[in-house]
Amino acid sequence: MNDATVGRRKCPALTLLALLGLLLLLLAACSSGSPSVSEAETGVLTLPPVSARAEEGQRLRVVATTSIIGDVVGRVGGGAIDLTTLMRPGQDPHSYQPAATDLTAAADADVIFINGWNLEEALVGDLDSIGRRATIVPVSAGIEPLAAGEGAANPHVWLDVANVIRWVENVRQVLGAADPSNAATYDANAAAYRAELEQLDADLRAMLATIPPARRVLVTNHDNLGYFATAYGFEVAGTVIPSVSALAEPTAKDLSELVGLMTAEGICALVVETTANDQLARMLERELTDCDEVHLITLYTDALGPPGSAAADYIGMMRANAAALVAGLT
Ligand SMILES: [Zn+2]
Repeated sequence: MNDATVGRRKCPALTLLALLGLLLLLLAACSSGSPSVSEAETGVLTLPPVSARAEEGQRLRVVATTSIIGDVVGRVGGGAIDLTTLMRPGQDPHSYQPAATDLTAAADADVIFINGWNLEEALVGDLDSIGRRATIVPVSAGIEPLAAGEGAANPHVWLDVANVIRWVENVRQVLGAADPSNAATYDANAAAYRAELEQLDADLRAMLATIPPARRVLVTNHDNLGYFATAYGFEVAGTVIPSVSALAEPTAKDLSELVGLMTAEGICALVVETTANDQLARMLERELTDCDEVHLITLYTDALGPPGSAAADYIGMMRANAAALVAGLT
């Protein structure tokens, strides 16, 4: 399914002549309908058309939703944009509710970068209705999503560095189109950052190669490591919360199945994320009685670490994650 697009609705194709009047009404309604990004998209997302937006003498006003998107957009935009990142480090994008100041920033924005695929499930509907003058851009446009069950797409693409390189290209294109007078700056910033990301990817591969293949098995809080596992040669054996959303609650049956699986496969390491409550993980730890020791490996998955920490930016976050996996699995 490659036809899911942002900002466009599919209209029913009615062909019966008797329904021509109704068809015309439907077409009119569809073509005048407002763009919507709140529908659950499941296929490859596309970049919306972007026209020049920056006003004379003013920096382009840009909003980013998650801390990770904000970091990447900031690297490409640099000092040429006026950037507001809505979520602070450590904030879970699945449950994030916008504050009044967020809505003001969205109302004034020229461009709003979101992840797409319903990551920011409590936020995007508000941005859609309030950011009327802004172009809402899914940074993940062009990336083939992994399926996440129930027809949903897994939104956690940034845990594969190659996908963030795609984000950089998308941000470069959009900023250059919205603010052509600074396009050369965005091109140069993107090229420099891309080189850093390519080095990051090579470094991650070298670090993770030290983990024996048999130990490259991950059990996670929620279904967020699929892209990471695919890119860097891991298997996701199970999730505490069998959903792409951290908001879902595991049932007693989910937990007992997971304990059974981990016991059967001799897995004694569990990945927990910095944005999640790790109470569940600790309960699981008590249940895994066959393990001499249960390693809880804390990864930054859905948000950056606090300012000043090693994970305060995307590159640092990914290096910290690789170091934690090497320490927990070797
Ligand atoms: Zn998540």
